[in-house]
Amino acid sequence: MTDPVTRALVIGAGPAGLMAAEEMGRAGVAVTVADAMPSPARKFLMAGKSGLNLTRDEPIDDFLRAFTPLPPVFEAALRDFGPEAVKDWARGLGQEVFTGTSRRVFPVVMKASPLLRVWLARLASFGVTLERRWRWTGWEGGAALFDTPAGVRRVSAQATVLALGGASWPRLGSDGGWTALLPGLVAPFRPANMGLAVAWSAQMARHFGQPVKGVALSAGAARTRGECVISARGLEGGGIYAVARAVREGAQLTLDLFPDLGEAELAARLGRMAAGDSVANRLRRLGLDPARAALVQEFGRPLPADLAPLLKALPIRHAGPRPLSEAISSAGGLKWSALDGFMLRDRPGVFAAGEMLDWEAPTGGYLLSACLATGRAAGRQAVA
Ligand SMILES: Cc1cc2nc3c(=O)[nH]c(=O)nc-3n(C[C@H](O)[C@H](O)[C@H](O)COP(=O)(O)OP(=O)(O)OC[C@H]3O[C@@H](n4cnc5c(N)ncnc54)[C@H](O)[C@@H]3O)c2cc1C
Repeated sequence: MTDPVTRALVIGAGPAGLMAAEEMGRAGVAVTVADAMPSPARKFLMAGKSGLNLTRDEPIDDFLRAFTPLPPVFEAALRDFGPEAVKDWARGLGQEVFTGTSRRVFPVVMKASPLLRVWLARLASFGVTLERRWRWTGWEGGAALFDTPAGVRRVSAQATVLALGGASWPRLGSDGGWTALLPGLVAPFRPANMGLAVAWSAQMARHFGQPVKGVALSAGAARTRGECVISARGLEGGGIYAVARAVREGAQLTLDLFPDLGEAELAARLGRMAAGDSVANRLRRLGLDPARAALVQEFGRPLPADLAPLLKALPIRHAGPRPLSEAISSAGGLKWSALDGFMLRDRPGVFAAGEMLDWEAPTGGYLLSACLATGRAAGRQAVA
């Protein structure tokens, strides 16, 4: 079988790889995109299942503060393709967008599939070709090697963009297997935006699946008003994800069950209740629903006589992060020190983009925005 020669190769057909292909294709470069899975952008499509949060409508300096670390080359890519640019790009693909609660930006249809369909058609119009079920397995001299249904293929390209993703939700394609192909260059993956494991007592089973609303979550310097869900495995959901990094780094997680009431006011309300009233009654009278009251009983024992401080900072006993395979995203990845711009220092002509790079950010549109921005920057650098 003849081995294909292409001017540009993109490995990984997620949002970062497709954006790199778009930049190169638009510049008139012949691009081949190869992905290990039978269809492209599976994680992107999954993201659309719960509402595709494309970006966050906020001033660029606030936006940039969400990313850790933020080396100058990453910052420049995010400034070049910030929230406004992401919105324009989505509109250019026929997707009207709106800003929802807490400044999150979604396509009006909420899903990813209509946007992806138009995007793939646009890439095809630039002459970009897509190879499915092509798993990159390493290099042979200057050529990239792939396991394909037709056997091993070698692809020589003037420029290659790696956009292989992180290591969460491996069944969607990004399994982190590529880290073995770039030895010494990768900071270990850790779960980010993940739930916390909790060894619940038996009486919590009846609350599995229930939301915990109207609380504030704190860990170290991180504090957020949010919501979480009690599940058989532990605690998960947006509120937990927002403080997950601080918890992963060792900070104690506490819940403020009355974020709109000061401790003194709470103590006064408790003080007005009958002395013989049970704790369960007092919690109900304060307005706590069964899920939040159950958390007090679960984590607050032995219950102190003065409940107010406990209700303002209920310490959550957990068994650490849920596994990486369940996390929304991953921290760690290809080290910035291995890169010159977005090009691998020890492999000129090979670039990298997306979640495979060593950065993390909370949910809220930051992840996709950064994948698009770095894909675009890597594609541009490749063209140059
Ligand atoms: C359930 C869920 C919901 C999410 N919701 C949102 C959201 O609303 N907003 C948001 O901003 N972010 C969201 N995210 C995160 C976002 O989807 C990811 O950050 C983003 O998809 C990463 O893009 P990427 O292109 O870097 O990698 P990926 O999308 O992971 O794509 C990498 C591609 O590389 C391919 N690949 C890997 N190894 C090889 C190999 N050896 N050879 C060939 N191909 C390979 C994979 O098959 C895959 O197609 C969500 C994630 C999950 C799991």
